[in-house]
Amino acid sequence: MRPLIAGNWKMNGTGHSLAEIAAVAEHVAAGNVRADVLICPPFTLLSRAVATAEGRFAIGAQDCHAQVSGAFTGDVSATMIRDAGAMAVIVGHSERRHYHHETNAMVAAKAEAAWRAGLMAIICIGETGDERDQGRADEVVLAQIEGSVPAAARAGNTAIAYEPIWAIGTGLTPSGDDIATMHGIIRESLQRRCHGEGERIRILYGGSANPGNARGILALANVNGALVGGASLKAEDFMGIIRAVPRV
Ligand code: PEP
Repeated sequence: MRPLIAGNWKMNGTGHSLAEIAAVAEHVAAGNVRADVLICPPFTLLSRAVATAEGRFAIGAQDCHAQVSGAFTGDVSATMIRDAGAMAVIVGHSERRHYHHETNAMVAAKAEAAWRAGLMAIICIGETGDERDQGRADEVVLAQIEGSVPAAARAGNTAIAYEPIWAIGTGLTPSGDDIATMHGIIRESLQRRCHGEGERIRILYGGSANPGNARGILALANVNGALVGGASLKAEDFMGIIRAVPRV
């Protein structure tokens, strides 16, 4: 399975930041990249990012509406994102679930909208620190898969991002054993749920990944790439993570 290294710029980036996209494109064009590469800038940069990446790697969005069009002020549909030249969209990021009260059902509907528009959906799941401390991490993550990963998910149109919320932007990461255990649980759940596709759907790790810890994380069983926040904003850091993808 070819790993996917995806960057989530969140609400960061203006026209100046296109220089980072250009630097990543140059790195990818130079060859020897052992992963699919994706950067998800804010909506305002989508078209310009697509143009700057020159097809050397993919551009994605960070959210989409479940409807194709209509009276939804401020929202952007998956069809519009595809029209801008993007190839993927993150859905159900914990910040969307928290600040915008997105439920599992809403996330599932967004994933289906992404597929209909021809986009890959990166569906995010992950437990809070309290849930982990209470020994409920597995149960929470399994319920999120049940609720937000439609059973029709296919390897070609879906990746799952396991992002423990307490690890996002904190500099904390779970132990390698804990990451491998959770990714194994997610794999088994996808195998049960997605009829012959669960084995091949990529499971990304997200949460304070950086060039220093990426090599160890990306070598773990059932870790098929990373979703990277802060360390994706600077091309040099992001490229450090891309370079950390193990040789097979
Ligand atoms: C994220 O928000 O998806 C993320 C993984 O952030 P960070 O890498 O900054 O922890």
